[in-house]
Amino acid sequence: MEIVFLGTGGGRWNLISQARRTGGFRINGSIAIHVDPGPGALIACHDFRQDPRKVGLLVVTHNHIDHVNDAGVIAEAMSGFALEKKGWLIGSRSVILGDEKGDRGISSYHMGALARVIVAKPGKKISIAVNGKKASLTPTRTKHDDKTGIGFVLEMDGQSLGYTSDTEYFYGISDQYRGCDVLIANNLKAKKDGVPGHLFTSHTIRLFQEAQPKLGIITHLGMRLIRAGAEKEAKKIQKASGVRTIAAKDGMRVDLAAFKTNG
Ligand SMILES: [Zn+2]
Repeated sequence: MEIVFLGTGGGRWNLISQARRTGGFRINGSIAIHVDPGPGALIACHDFRQDPRKVGLLVVTHNHIDHVNDAGVIAEAMSGFALEKKGWLIGSRSVILGDEKGDRGISSYHMGALARVIVAKPGKKISIAVNGKKASLTPTRTKHDDKTGIGFVLEMDGQSLGYTSDTEYFYGISDQYRGCDVLIANNLKAKKDGVPGHLFTSHTIRLFQEAQPKLGIITHLGMRLIRAGAEKEAKKIQKASGVRTIAAKDGMRVDLAAFKTNG
C-alpha cells in the first residue's frame, strides 16, 4: 500500500485560505481508495498525478464540508463521467442518508452512478470487491460533532491502515486500532483549547501509546500547529509515545511496503 496526501490542512483557516490543502488522501493498493475529498480534492488529484478515474472506492467519514465537498466530482470520475455504474462508496449515515436536518453529502444522481453505496456502522466489517480485487474495511467509532461520523481500519494487500478521522479522545478509541501497521490521526491542535471534538497532541500521544502502530502519521493539521512546526509536534509525539511518527505534508507519499521491509 501507498498513501498519498492530497491535503493535510485542518480547521477553518486552512479550509478557506488553502494554505494547506483539504483534499483528503489516496490509498493505492489492489484497490485505489480516496478518503475524505474536501474542497480542492479534484485539483489535488491532478497536481499530484492521482488519476481520479482509477478510484475504485470512495470513503467519506462524515458530513462536514472539509471532508465531503468534492465527493460528487470524485464519484463522477470513478463512474466514467457518471455514465457507467462503477465504483463503491462507503460513507457515514449523514453522508449517504442525511443528517437530522436533512442535509446529505452526495447527490442521489452521483450515488446512483456507483455500483455499491454502503452506510457504515462502527464495528461492522465490510468486505470490498472491486474489479476482482479484495479488501476489507471496519468502520470505527468517533466522538465528533457529526454523531454518525466514522474512522476505519482498512485491510488490504496484507497490511492494515487505521484512520481516526475527526474525533476527540474517548475511552476505548485505541482498542479499535490495535495491531495496525499505520495509524493516521487527525491531530488538529497542539494544545487543548476547550473546544471539544478534535484530537490534540497529548491525546494523540495517549492514542499511539495504547494502539502501538508501527508508524503514526498526523494530518488535518490546524494553522496554529503548523505555525509552531508540525515536524516538531510529530517528534514530540514520537518521543513520548515510543511510536515512530511523521507529520503529513501536501503531496507526501508513504510507501508502506518499503516501510515494512525496512522494519
Ligand atoms: Zn469534522
